[in-house]
Amino acid sequence: MPVTSGKEYINRIDKLNSDIWLEGKKVAGPISNQPAFKGVIHSQAKLYDHQMLKEKTDLMTYESPSTGMRVGTSFLEPKTKEDLAKRRLMIQEWAKLTGGMMGRSPEYMNTVLMAFNASAQLFSEQGGNCAENVKKYYEYCRENDLCLTHTFIQPQVDRSKFYAENKDDIIAAKMIDQTKDGIIIQGARLLATQGGITDEIMVFPSGAQLSIDESYAYAFAIPNNTKGLKFFCRESFDYGKAGYDHPLGSKFEEMDTIVVFDNVLVPWERVFLHGDLAIGNSLYAESGFFPHVTHMVVSKQVVKTEFLLGIIQLLVDTINVSEYQHIQEKVAEVIIALETMKSLLAASELNAKIDRWGTMTPDLNPLLSAINYYPRTYPRFSEIIQLIGASGLVSIPTEKDFNSPIHDELRKYLQSSTGDGYDRVKLFRLAWDVSMSAFGSRQTLYERFFFGDPVRLAGTLYHNYDKSNAVERVKRFLKDD
Ligand SMILES: Cc1cc2nc3c(=O)[nH]c(=O)nc-3n(C[C@H](O)[C@H](O)[C@H](O)COP(=O)(O)OP(=O)(O)OC[C@H]3O[C@@H](n4cnc5c(N)ncnc54)[C@H](O)[C@@H]3O)c2cc1C
Repeated sequence: MPVTSGKEYINRIDKLNSDIWLEGKKVAGPISNQPAFKGVIHSQAKLYDHQMLKEKTDLMTYESPSTGMRVGTSFLEPKTKEDLAKRRLMIQEWAKLTGGMMGRSPEYMNTVLMAFNASAQLFSEQGGNCAENVKKYYEYCRENDLCLTHTFIQPQVDRSKFYAENKDDIIAAKMIDQTKDGIIIQGARLLATQGGITDEIMVFPSGAQLSIDESYAYAFAIPNNTKGLKFFCRESFDYGKAGYDHPLGSKFEEMDTIVVFDNVLVPWERVFLHGDLAIGNSLYAESGFFPHVTHMVVSKQVVKTEFLLGIIQLLVDTINVSEYQHIQEKVAEVIIALETMKSLLAASELNAKIDRWGTMTPDLNPLLSAINYYPRTYPRFSEIIQLIGASGLVSIPTEKDFNSPIHDELRKYLQSSTGDGYDRVKLFRLAWDVSMSAFGSRQTLYERFFFGDPVRLAGTLYHNYDKSNAVERVKRFLKDD
């Protein structure tokens, strides 16, 4: 099958009737009609439609090796540097449609799956058909252009080093049985962004800490409507307001869900890992997961930073504060961040090499640097917006106010150096939604944590980075002296 259309994606997830809970009620009826999900589902549908545009075919798709039909570029296993560049441009094309505000749009998991498929041999070491299962699943998702969510971490009960869960009271999801039909999973996982609005969910061991208990060493993928699988939503940050009032929240609120497995049977053909601690603990380091997923993530973060730079410069122009040096310095900070991210991305492609799996793999060091740098830098963008926008960020009446008897006064008293009150508030509402609203605060939290705890990410860079040349040079210097 070729790439999917937005309508097909919506029809598919509407039919699933998955077990989703929001504000104390089970979601009933087509999910694409639900106020909490409508906006993001339609934004995601637009992404799918975009890859069907004739003029975008070459960028957004490639020829399926199994059918010859056009399938999505985010599934492409890169074999050349040109393939890597094509992947980047495709990811950025989608990100431009959302301002980079949809962290978990489909290319995220398509890339994860591509990376695991490319190194599927890793899964064969446990025997059985696990490697074949990974390959078949990748092909199935690619050929049907499926949309996936995922959950890789355990509930935040007690993160102290020696915590071990009480065996009789399961909280973190674990394998409780293996039958002739598959493995049985019981317990909860955090956190699946877009849980409930995708076709399927992929579950992998937590990369955060080594597992010493085989019952947590599992990986699989199942449809979202599998019996016993439940998604518990947080409060929605799409408050059903017009696009004028909540320009981002009304379109890109992805929702985060707690995932509960209530005696869920995962059929053997969907099991990728069951009980092999060595594979579970080395999976992320040994596969192409880190380089390929960070390459995708950083490609998107570049577009997101451009979007923020655009907002910030428009604020500066609108209230005409560009002559002040501290304003220039603040905008320059964002430019430096943007150029740093672009350079790290370019360096990763320039120094890309074929890895042991035969995949053209971007250089991990610049990407790990970027993925460490951005969580610390992104919160500053919100701060800069607040420091420049000042009271303008709370002088933001709604569209209803502009349609009320006070509209003339609002247009007059809220005018800026570039336009009337209506246009000025439209921009300031965007700036507020990206930096101060519930949607905007979540974006900041997302950038801080979505790829893992920044403290431990720094540890990954520390251990991964070859420091021997630098150390040798200093040793030689000391000796010569
Ligand atoms: C908005 C958002 C969306 C997300 N979406 C997804 C998703 O779709 N799928 C998914 O799988 N995950 C998702 N995540 C989860 C993300 O992967 C985790 O937030 C991240 O791995 C950190 O884990 P944690 O939240 O459990 O924090 P914790 O590990 O509980 O950390 C809490 C604090 O304790 C410190 N700490 C804990 N343990 C240690 C340690 N061993 N050493 C040093 N310090 C420690 C941390 O530094 C931190 O300050 C999302 C997170 C957010 C915020």
